[in-house]
Amino acid sequence: KDTEVSVLGLGAMGRELARALLDAGHRVTVWNRTAARAEALAERGAVVAGSPGEAVGASPLTVVCLLDEDTVLQALDGVGAAGRAVVNLTNGTPEQARRVAELVRGQGGDYLDGGIMAVPPMIGGPHAFLYYSGSERVFREHRPLLDTFGAAHYKGEDPGAAALWDVALLSAMYGMFGGLLHAFALARSAGIDAGEVAGDVGAWLTAMGEAGPEYARRIDTGDHTTDVVSNLGMQAAGIRNVLATAEEQGVSTALLGPLADFMRLRLAGGDHAAEDLTGLVQLLAPGAETV
Ligand code: NDP
Repeated sequence: KDTEVSVLGLGAMGRELARALLDAGHRVTVWNRTAARAEALAERGAVVAGSPGEAVGASPLTVVCLLDEDTVLQALDGVGAAGRAVVNLTNGTPEQARRVAELVRGQGGDYLDGGIMAVPPMIGGPHAFLYYSGSERVFREHRPLLDTFGAAHYKGEDPGAAALWDVALLSAMYGMFGGLLHAFALARSAGIDAGEVAGDVGAWLTAMGEAGPEYARRIDTGDHTTDVVSNLGMQAAGIRNVLATAEEQGVSTALLGPLADFMRLRLAGGDHAAEDLTGLVQLLAPGAETV
């Protein structure tokens, strides 16, 4: 019997997506390479498909959440998506998203890409949000169902756009995680449990995160001047202390060293000591010598 929505991939995330759809009262078909992972969902009423093609054929809309885009290309190859809508929430690059779009459209299907800004337990909760791009028709038509997962932000017809937004946020996250790991390693090198500093580290990151809009303004206007807050000359001296402390404690500087290198490079490249850290963005831009 036909269902409203199919879910391909029942890993940690796919399972949660399928569960949210069932909780919202949708009729759901699921497929997973390892069939045993579908059992708990089947007990809750999901129909289990024997192949990706069977799942795509069962519903007008298929949500895909597999390990990576190569897996998606493999799973969707020859599924016969004609007249069907595919929403791919697998993480990947913009180019990879465009390739999956081509595959689906080549079969006569409609394609919407997506990026999930949530970990599985957040799905359906107040803090989950998702980026979408590609077919606006699919986005509009299935919006109520997509809202089941979290707040939906549509970023235009280019199927690669959602991945760009997603990866931009992940980039900021991984930079932060790198700093967190370094901070905890440093604490432990002094016999302090990570748990003892975690609260203060969190409060500090929250306070520093508020610099985002001001950083963005400097970057968008190209005016990196700062005469009041934290100039690059001071920050370069500060990060030298961060690295020197790590060395004193025997902690690796591998994660934070490159940031100090970029500060040195910016200072060596001209009269930049009075500007904000934001000037470093020019060393990261396409075409910069450091790329
Ligand atoms: P899991 O590792 O838990 O699940 C991976 C899924 O991919 C499983 O369904 C697995 O099937 C399937 N799979 C892997 N290789 C193959 C293959 N060769 N052929 C067919 N199926 C395959 O990952 P998640 O569920 O956590 O992540 C899924 C996607 O969601 C990823 O792109 C991830 O980046 C994204 N995402 C995850 C978040 C998270 O915090 N978990 C957050 C935001 C996005 P099987 O069960 O058979 O192994």
